[in-house]
Amino acid sequence: MGRMNVLVCCALLGSAGSLAVRSQPARPAAVALYSGARLIVGDGGVIEDGAFLVRDGQIAAIGGKGTIDAPAGAARLDLTGKTVMPAMINAHVHIGYEGYTTWGAENYTAQNVLDHLEREAFYGVAATQSVGSSPLEPSLQFERDQRAGKFPPASRFFFMPGMAPPNGGPDAILMKGTSVLHAVYEVSTAAEARAAVSMIAGRQLKHVKIWVDDRRGTYPKMTPEVYNAVIDEAHTHHMLVHAHAIAMEDQKAVVRAGADVLVHTVANEKLDEELIALLKEKKPYWTTVIGLGDRSEACDGDPFIDQSYPAAALAAIRQNGCGAATANAANREAMLANNVPKMVAAGARLVLGTDAGITARHAFGWADHHEIARWVDLGLTPAQAIAAATARPAELLGIKDLGTLAVGKSADFIVLDANPLENIRNTRKIANVYLRGARLNRDALASAFKNAGAGR
Ligand SMILES: [Zn+2]
Repeated sequence: MGRMNVLVCCALLGSAGSLAVRSQPARPAAVALYSGARLIVGDGGVIEDGAFLVRDGQIAAIGGKGTIDAPAGAARLDLTGKTVMPAMINAHVHIGYEGYTTWGAENYTAQNVLDHLEREAFYGVAATQSVGSSPLEPSLQFERDQRAGKFPPASRFFFMPGMAPPNGGPDAILMKGTSVLHAVYEVSTAAEARAAVSMIAGRQLKHVKIWVDDRRGTYPKMTPEVYNAVIDEAHTHHMLVHAHAIAMEDQKAVVRAGADVLVHTVANEKLDEELIALLKEKKPYWTTVIGLGDRSEACDGDPFIDQSYPAAALAAIRQNGCGAATANAANREAMLANNVPKMVAAGARLVLGTDAGITARHAFGWADHHEIARWVDLGLTPAQAIAAATARPAELLGIKDLGTLAVGKSADFIVLDANPLENIRNTRKIANVYLRGARLNRDALASAFKNAGAGR
C-alpha cells in the first residue's frame, strides 16, 4: 500500500474514531504512537524504521517513522531497535484437559480453558483454535462469555466439534478426556454424518474435524461413505473440514475427497507424485503438528519455558520425557526434511498448529515457537514461517481483524528484542505482547503460571 493511501485511510478513521469515543464514554480513547521498530507486516512485507498509531485498540495508521501524525495527548512509545510482528494464531490445539500435575476431563473447566488461552497469549498468540475435543455447549458458552468481556485478556477462543466412528477418532490418551465429555460425535453412516454436520452448522460453527486413521489396525477407520458425506454436507453449509490423516494413503483419500485442512505430516515415507499432484490441484490448508512430544527446550532448561512452567511439571518432564533420541527419530527427521518443503512447494497452505494439550505437559504457547522454528530447520524461510503463523491462519479461521499489521486491524502484536527474519528463534525474545492495544501484564501471568497445579 502506498503512503498516500495510508494517510487517506487514517484521516477517515480518525473522524470515525472520535465519534465512537463520544458514544462510548465508559471506554475513553487510548491513542498511542509506536515509533522506530522494524515492522513485520505478516503478509511478507517489512517496514524498516516504521511507526503505527493505535486508537481504541485498533491500528489507525501505519507507515514510516515520522509520517504519521499523532493527536495531542497521545502516548508516544519509542521502539527503536525492536521488531514488531502480528500476534500469532494457532489453528490446532486441544484445550482444557492439561492440569500440569494431572491430565483429563476432571480439569475441564472454564477457568482451565482460560488458563490455557492466557498461556497462548503470554507467548504472543492472539487466537487459538481447539480442534475436535471441546464439548459443544460449554465451548459455545465460553465463546459468548469471552466475547462479552467477562474474562481477563487472553487468546481468543475458537473451537470445532469432531466426528469419528464409534470407538475411533482421538488417540487413546485424548479419548480418555473426550469420551467423558462426549466431545466427539460418533457417526457410522452417511445419514448420521449429515445430521451431525447439519446440527453443528445450526450452531453457527464454521469448522468440523474428522479422524481418518485406524491407528495401525487398532481402531475403526472412518469409511469413505461417511467422510464423503461429512465433507459434502459441510460444504453445503459453507463449513470447512479438518481431516486428521497420518498415513500417505489416508492423506490422499481425504484431499481427494475435498477436505479443506489436512492435519499432520507424513513422517514414515517420502511423499509420492500422486499426493504431490493432489496437493497441487486442491491446495488444502495444512497444519504440520510435527513438534508434538518434542520437549527439548524443557529438557534443556531453556528459560523461555522455565519462566512460565510449574517446577513440578518441569521436574516430571525431565524425569520421564528427556531420553536420548530413538533410532526411528533420525529416519523421521529425514522424511520430514524431504516432505515438509515438498508440501509447501506443491501449494499446501501451511498454518500454525501444535496439538498442544493433547497429552500431558506438551504445553500451550511455547509449542508455537517450537513448531515455527522446526519449519525453518526443515527448509522454510523465517518469512514463510511467520506468514504461516499470522496472516494465513487468520484467513483460514475467517478472523478479519487479526493476522497482519494494517489499518483497521486489532492492535494485537508482539514486540521483540531481535529480528526473527534473521533467526526464527528470535520470536522467543519477547519484550511485550499487546492484545487489542493493551499491554499484557506478562510478569503477573508468569508468576500465576508457575504456581499452577500447586493447590490441586
Ligand atoms: Zn490434534
